[in-house]
Amino acid sequence: MKIAPKVWKNGEFISWDDARIHVMSHVVNYGSSVFEGIRCYSTAKGPAVFRLPEHMQRLVNSAKIYRMDPPYSRDDFCDAAVSLIGGTEMEHCYLRPVIFRGLDEDKPAFGVYPLNNPIECYVAAWEWGKYLGDDAIENGIDVCVSSWNRYNTNALPAMAKAGANYMNSQLIKMEAKLGGFSEGIALDDRGYVSEGSGENIFLVNNGKLITPPLGAAILPGITRDSVVQIAREMGLEVVETTIQRAALYLADEVFFTGTAAEISPIRSVDRIQVGSGKRGEITKRLQEEFFKIVIGERPAPFGANWLTYVRPEGEELTVTAN
Ligand code: PMP
Repeated sequence: MKIAPKVWKNGEFISWDDARIHVMSHVVNYGSSVFEGIRCYSTAKGPAVFRLPEHMQRLVNSAKIYRMDPPYSRDDFCDAAVSLIGGTEMEHCYLRPVIFRGLDEDKPAFGVYPLNNPIECYVAAWEWGKYLGDDAIENGIDVCVSSWNRYNTNALPAMAKAGANYMNSQLIKMEAKLGGFSEGIALDDRGYVSEGSGENIFLVNNGKLITPPLGAAILPGITRDSVVQIAREMGLEVVETTIQRAALYLADEVFFTGTAAEISPIRSVDRIQVGSGKRGEITKRLQEEFFKIVIGERPAPFGANWLTYVRPEGEELTVTAN
């Protein structure tokens, strides 16, 4: 795996090997981190980051929910990401910004109360292939409904992409993988479909897209939003509503969306075949448009700008989005 040799840390670049923390950092003991996962795609005009400001906005939103006040704005994080990629040879990569509570070694604080621990900000990057396997995008994956529920959003706010949420995701993912599935779908505390361990979910019924609403215990996925907009521009109806587990079995098509998973068709749920057991026609059409947009082959829907070019022509290392 290719890894960017530098890591952005609190406003400067350090080497990958120096990007280390103390074992008694607050985050290690109490899970106090918020983070992002962002893809940068190879385009005809060099590397371009997909929906960079939206991801960095979610990062600072997640921080705000947890009363973290980093001295960097959304745009500072965008600049950091662009400079980080611009300083490498990488044409495409995955970006991992993370904000966490560390340890002040001169004035150590070891309790749960986090406000005496310093805020640390990092951005790392590496080349990452297909998250759910090389043929997932074309052939689809086999998934299960997890015996683990998604957390109640008044216990862990689902709007924040917080490290601690991923303890729940790990339970879901381990159970699924060890049971022979690629991924697990969690039900919420009322028994309705919420999302995968690291993906939002869509059903297709009679040509209509159905997905759990943003008010549910789901991460407000940026790929989810992209698919909703692509679908609406294509003239497809999108309905955000509660979904029963059994509806997964009866759908014409089911697919996951996520930065890592992109648009991944689901061919079976709990060993029950979904639709034809292959990638569905609408899933395929959405994928085609999505993959054209991320590599700059067609514009984003409704005149939006979804790409931040790392090396805009005639300029050096500036953010161009919005
Ligand atoms: N839900 C969860 C729990 C996730 O971890 C992710 C990945 N960030 C998603 C949904 C999809 O979000 P996005 O499309 O913004 O990557």
